[in-house]
Amino acid sequence: MANDPELARYSAQMDEAQRDIDRAKDRLQRAKQDRDALRSTLDGVRARIDDLKRSVANEREAARYCSQNHDRISAQNHRYNADGFKRVLDDQYAIKNSYAEQMSRYRAEVDAARAELDAAKARKQQAREAFQARLAQLRAQKAERDAKWREKPCAICGQTLRYNVDWTHIPSVHRECRERQKAERDARWREKPCAICGQALRYNVDWTHIPNVHRECRERAAAERAARSARA
Ligand SMILES: [Zn+2]
Ligand SMILES: [Zn+2]
Repeated sequence: MANDPELARYSAQMDEAQRDIDRAKDRLQRAKQDRDALRSTLDGVRARIDDLKRSVANEREAARYCSQNHDRISAQNHRYNADGFKRVLDDQYAIKNSYAEQMSRYRAEVDAARAELDAAKARKQQAREAFQARLAQLRAQKAERDAKWREKPCAICGQTLRYNVDWTHIPSVHRECRERQKAERDARWREKPCAICGQALRYNVDWTHIPNVHRECRERAAAERAARSARA
């Protein structure tokens, strides 16, 4: 099961997707850091703009107050100051606009990194599901194969004999038991020379009567004796 090529392929796909996930996480983290850093810079610019707007309003208010009180010199100074703050304020607006443009690029990078991460996670999930499906399939196949193996007692020794129901010939005894039994049977057969013809005479030690001559030899000898006594 461990060396199934399909299973190994899904496992490799999971590893590859995990590497993609790690890469996308790094990218997302960097993009978020850039975005957050710019966000705090932008917050600083906004705070400066608010201060400058207040300063411009204060100086204009002071200029109005002074000219109502006919203090033209002070009124002129306040207008001069207000114009100065207004120029700095305009610069800050320009800075804010360029940062806002950069901010939209950073946000797009965060979105792209997040999309890459989601896609890698989806690939890993897909590979994991395929892996698990294949594993379940292999387990079912193994269970099916295992179910075809049966056991029964050996007709000779009585010990467990394993066999597969798909075999064309289902044995009833162990091969070793059959061979041992045959060797024992063969050992019970002996040979000795026939008392009449001298040729080999096969016999089994288990026979109750062990012959000394071939049956044909004995019959031939009996026929010859009968012929001789008939002639006499
Ligand atoms: Zn046996
Ligand atoms: Zn003989």
